[in-house]
Amino acid sequence: MAQRYFFKDINDLECLEKTKLCVFSSHFKETTMAAVAYKEIEKMQENAQGKEPGDVYFPAEGKLASKKLEQGGLKPIDRLVVGIARVTWQFFKLVNKIHQGKPFQPRWAPAPLLKKKERTFPQFGWPRETDSLCPRCIKEAREAIVSGAEDYTYLINENPGEIKAMIVEKEGKILMVKDCPKHGHFEDVMSIDPDFLKRIEKLYPGRDFKSPLTNLRNHGTSSIQYGRGSVLTVDLTNRCNMMCDPCFMDANQVGYVHELSWDEIKEILDNSLKIKPRRQMSVQFSGGEPTLSPHFIEAVRYAKEVGYFSVQAATNGIRFAEDPQFAQQAFDAGMRIAYLQFDGIGNENNAHRKISNLFDAKLKAITNLANVGIDVVLVVTIVNTINDHQIGPIIDFAIQNSDKVTFVSFQPVSFTGRDEDVDDETRKKQRYTLSHLAHDVKKQTGISEPLRDWFPLSAAGPFSDLADMLQGPDKDWGNLKCGCHPNCGTGMGLWVDKKDRAWLPISEFIDVEQLLKDIQDITDACQPPWLTKMEVGAALLKNYKPAKAPRELTLRDFMTKFDKQSGGGLNRKVDYGKGFERKKDRWLLMFVAGMWFQDLFNYDFRRTEMCIIPYATQLGEVSFCAYNTGVGWRQIIENMFKNASVGDWYKKYGRHSVFAGNRPMPLPDWSHEVRLPAQEAERLKHASGGCGEGCGCHEVI
Ligand code: SF4
Repeated sequence: MAQRYFFKDINDLECLEKTKLCVFSSHFKETTMAAVAYKEIEKMQENAQGKEPGDVYFPAEGKLASKKLEQGGLKPIDRLVVGIARVTWQFFKLVNKIHQGKPFQPRWAPAPLLKKKERTFPQFGWPRETDSLCPRCIKEAREAIVSGAEDYTYLINENPGEIKAMIVEKEGKILMVKDCPKHGHFEDVMSIDPDFLKRIEKLYPGRDFKSPLTNLRNHGTSSIQYGRGSVLTVDLTNRCNMMCDPCFMDANQVGYVHELSWDEIKEILDNSLKIKPRRQMSVQFSGGEPTLSPHFIEAVRYAKEVGYFSVQAATNGIRFAEDPQFAQQAFDAGMRIAYLQFDGIGNENNAHRKISNLFDAKLKAITNLANVGIDVVLVVTIVNTINDHQIGPIIDFAIQNSDKVTFVSFQPVSFTGRDEDVDDETRKKQRYTLSHLAHDVKKQTGISEPLRDWFPLSAAGPFSDLADMLQGPDKDWGNLKCGCHPNCGTGMGLWVDKKDRAWLPISEFIDVEQLLKDIQDITDACQPPWLTKMEVGAALLKNYKPAKAPRELTLRDFMTKFDKQSGGGLNRKVDYGKGFERKKDRWLLMFVAGMWFQDLFNYDFRRTEMCIIPYATQLGEVSFCAYNTGVGWRQIIENMFKNASVGDWYKKYGRHSVFAGNRPMPLPDWSHEVRLPAQEAERLKHASGGCGEGCGCHEVI
């Protein structure tokens, strides 16, 4: 049931703001107003004068189309097999106790594969001290470098702006507090639920190999020191075809163009492969809008050719919405994932991007991308009190479109760029943490448990270690591994039925915590591959709970899905196909993740030194957070390597289209193949003229 609040007069609107935010009256047609500004609620209240009071409710609650998967069923064979696996597991445990193999050193690694006891851990728990930044001093240092008063090596040699910070528990929250002798006291929230953070830190499986210091990773205290990275990010250009307000990467707003030449792109991609551990990374082309680079398609092709695991683009989707042929070319070149900027359902939830039909353009982009076989990842920046109420509807949207969308990445707001000067009150109000996310998913979908279903992104590490071991010493590449600090990212696995559009957190029917421990033990035991595979099979089965599993899921489907998901490690004989062929099955393991990029108020060098998102630049690989937020290497590097002022660039190459000014962008037509909430579908039907009633509501594109 929707949670309802009764209001009688304007003073009660205070509660609207808190509860974000829908006005509902039995005398109005049902109206969903997501992210309604206070003023608009006032207007609505005026319209309500003289009428019965209405109700206010969370739009998500009780309003989502997707439902929880039905569980249970007798499943006598499944129960028997699980019972046998539990007994067999005891035998394997004994074998591993009596004899363990010796880890080998694969070609790609700088040392023999690490066992759990050999791994290092940053300090966890609280109170604890860490290294951070003074939000004011570091800005002064950056400005000194950009103005030419200092050389960029000042950042490497002098550590400007660095101060100590404490992570403490206070009044039921976890805070970062720090004092700068010059600029005073700063504090910010790290978690609104100490138990949540405690659990997430406890589940961190330990660091990966230490990365040797090289010319590519020599950025003083901003150097990435551990792990293999997982997403190499390459900004192809800072030009963009939108003008969001504010945006600090866009050429139009910073006044200069910074765009990589073809030789620079190749060199950057080649360089990254020289780092040991040599690992299977994804490459993500970013920007600006990367599709504006004249080298975009060739860059995708080259990245695939030289061996990167998957090639992605972080995109606003406009180019793909405009032209299905472009989507086809990108797929043919090797692009497999579109990281699609996505702020909410409906045009009003995208209004701050200054294109009045942006959501309609996203629908077109999703359709065109999916039609050629490119997976769509919804990338959502969440700002408290602005669009946090969209968490439930966005998950619902992803489930409804699970044939196209495979992953949702929520990114809690990071106060960067002009927002670095955010006032304390706004920052406090808008701060959103990974713990908010876990609680909001539960609140808005009615499904999931923050203390059971959420894991640090690094928790999947034992599966990468297992794959590394099974692949043996002669491999040239280590497996993809997300070994980031547990304060950086969390995730939840969703078991999705693509047929019935229903879902369940996987922890409801798999003991994920125990499975991760078992996989770690198996990997540490380092047995021959045939025995390892048998042990993995037993571990999977023993942690499976048939009575809680989806009613229509068979054990065979479950094991097949696991094998496919882990790259066919258990059953090498099966080829699961590519593209559409691979997606034929009924079930999808969808991930909902939270990646919390840092800002100056919560910056922690323990996090950047373990960063899994290296930004590849002309000055080597810098942690995403050190590049875009915190230390802010972006401004320095872009200034050092900028191509031209915007004016000069336009004179030489001409202008590209920019969609802005709250106007609609032209779309080829209204058709799309995305499943929408009823209200949105209705709106589109009218807007496209599909209602056929001459209702006068048609918008002109
Ligand atoms: S980008 Fe930032 S938040 Fe993400 S892993 Fe790197 S340091 Fe952590």
